[in-house]
Amino acid sequence: MSAGHQSGDGQQKHPRPKRRVPRSFKELTPTNAFNPRTFFHEMVWKALVTRRVGSHKTPQYPELSGDQMALTWIGHASFLVQFPGLNALIDPNFANWLFLLKRLKRPGLKLQDLPPIDLVLLTHAHFDHFHRPSLKKLASPKIAVVPWGVGDLARGLGFGRIIELEWWDSFSSGDWKVTLTPCKHWGARVLRDHHRGYGGYLLEYRGRRIFHAGDSAYFEGFKEIGERAPPEIALLPIGAYFPDSFRNVHMGPDEAMKVFRDVRADLLVPMHYGSFKLSFESMDEPPRWLMDLAHRAGLQDRVRILEEGVPEVF
Ligand SMILES: [Zn+2]
Ligand SMILES: [Zn+2]
Repeated sequence: MSAGHQSGDGQQKHPRPKRRVPRSFKELTPTNAFNPRTFFHEMVWKALVTRRVGSHKTPQYPELSGDQMALTWIGHASFLVQFPGLNALIDPNFANWLFLLKRLKRPGLKLQDLPPIDLVLLTHAHFDHFHRPSLKKLASPKIAVVPWGVGDLARGLGFGRIIELEWWDSFSSGDWKVTLTPCKHWGARVLRDHHRGYGGYLLEYRGRRIFHAGDSAYFEGFKEIGERAPPEIALLPIGAYFPDSFRNVHMGPDEAMKVFRDVRADLLVPMHYGSFKLSFESMDEPPRWLMDLAHRAGLQDRVRILEEGVPEVF
């Protein structure tokens, strides 16, 4: 289903020379083909005049026992993962605005309706994933796990411990273990901090294993995850892939299906779409395209679109 890809690409057919752009926009749109005026019109102005949709739910958190896992999609790349003895957040972002970028769909729940959090996994320092104001509002203390070179950004946010990991390094405590996995992306939060790491996470608890890919383009490294530690559930990004130059750092639903196979997961849960307009595909295209691909492959029972703010037990 590629018809939807036509929207908004008129400006992108003839890439213009690289120009100086505001820091935060450049950070969000790593491509030489991008031009600030188009970006402003598509991402900022159109969003500004679009009504924000979605509603905050009051989540009914399930009573878990044994090795049960509950998963709640908050929106964008943010998830709450719960086990009987662990409440973990991944890339929590409750922002209504990222600088000039308006959030177009509300988070599925309010930050104050979260349960007490033990562990926060942060995949990289980009503003849509590492949102300091959200982190600061979480009750302390809790443990932060971040990629190498990102720890300084987590200071002063109420974390009792900050753990930096390299790819394939793990940290464990009690019944859980977390491992930073490779991805194809970049780590600079602003312009010159390219020393910062980035990745995805495998979170394991009593034999259960869930994978959050962070932000990533498709690359061969996902096969290694499937060989070393295939997860049950793969949380995979499916938005911010158009124009094609964005696929240097992000993936579309077509590539997410490949990643799903590569990591050998049982279930694909898509994310990184629908909340912020970060690219030129239409907001509702990624999940439609994904389900279309899943049906064609006979995998529709193994792709699950979660509703924001509604916990599901696995
Ligand atoms: Zn990113
Ligand atoms: Zn992102």
